[in-house]
Amino acid sequence: MKAQLANNQSWNRWILTAFWLLISMILLFSQVVYLLRQSGDGLFGSSFELSPSVMPVAIPSLLTLIVAECLIRMMRRYFEHLLIVIGFAFALLIMLTYSEQETGMYITLGIPIIISYCYFDRGLLQFTTFFTSGAFFVAVQCFPSLKQQIHFVDIIIIFAFTIGMTMIGYAVISRGEELQRSLERAILSELEAFADSVAVENDAKIDHLTGLYNHITYQEYASLLTEQHEWYGMKLLLAVIDIDNFKYVNDTYGHHVGDIVLMKTAALLKHSISHEDIAARYGGEEFVVLLTGKSLEEAVALLDLVRMRLEEASFPELGEHHVTMSVGLAEYRSGMDKDKLFKQADAYLYEAKRSGKNRIVSRHGEEAASYA
Ligand code: GH3
Ligand code: MG
Ligand code: MG
Repeated sequence: MKAQLANNQSWNRWILTAFWLLISMILLFSQVVYLLRQSGDGLFGSSFELSPSVMPVAIPSLLTLIVAECLIRMMRRYFEHLLIVIGFAFALLIMLTYSEQETGMYITLGIPIIISYCYFDRGLLQFTTFFTSGAFFVAVQCFPSLKQQIHFVDIIIIFAFTIGMTMIGYAVISRGEELQRSLERAILSELEAFADSVAVENDAKIDHLTGLYNHITYQEYASLLTEQHEWYGMKLLLAVIDIDNFKYVNDTYGHHVGDIVLMKTAALLKHSISHEDIAARYGGEEFVVLLTGKSLEEAVALLDLVRMRLEEASFPELGEHHVTMSVGLAEYRSGMDKDKLFKQADAYLYEAKRSGKNRIVSRHGEEAASYA
């Protein structure tokens, strides 16, 4: 509805400008015709005289248009109805001014009807037809000069003309609606295609079991983030996480329970990291987390929280058995690439496993440091 109103507003402006042009052209045209007639032989006379029809048309037109210019800013609704009324008023003005010299001036009654076409609104078209016919009937009664010039045949012609113009209006609106419907259908199918492609794209990016990003997506993000580090010096850390003794879980409780452990660990990871971090399943029971904008200490604190939460988590499927994880955490330094970063983190993970599992190993100064 709001969009419709805004749309109408721009048409209102357009039509009001068209009125200015129309009146200017009529005045110019009547003045030129007057001067040509005055000079007799088709050349302009030496003295300039204003056509007697200029002022009677110019003054009311100017006043009407100035009032309309003020109202266009204030009147949010029904301004199009006002434009129809103004269109009829102009038609009447033209008829009253020029009907004595020219015949068939009632064709100007088409002005308000043509204006109503612009809004593609059946209700407005009906209003225009009834208003134009009714107001014309009243005007004929009120202005004797008009009454004298309109004969019975003219009434029939005007009636047929109004009906004809209204029918054309209905045809234009129907065609417009048809085009709008086909446009809507086209947009809808384009949107559906877009939604499908997003779904396919998302599907290809996600690991189905855990809902985390998959290996390919991790590689893409790792390339992107290491590049960003090289360009902007943005802090980047990589944690490689491996569930401890996972084979034991599988062998003792079954693969299905192993899958539940993977899903719960992934959910814990997902909810513990911030939005700017990327968690992915690297493969099997190994996960990776790309941490951005954090210091090594902040990353250790965050991962240690995840480690403790996992250790404390109860798995009804495992009875008394608790799941733990080991982490290798490496910091990206300029000149490294994503593979070197991974190798470094993996080496720390190996160190964490070797030194007793359920811990984080990272660099501290030049030494590897263990946090558990
Ligand atoms: P460590 O503490 O040294 O990491 O030992 P681990 O037993 O965790 O590691 P290992 O590499 O010996 O065993 C990993 C097991 O994970 C082997 C593999 O069958 C299992 N695995 C890999 N992918 C999946 C999966 O999607 N679901 C389940 N249930 N098991 C998986
Ligand atoms: Mg492993
Ligand atoms: Mg393991």
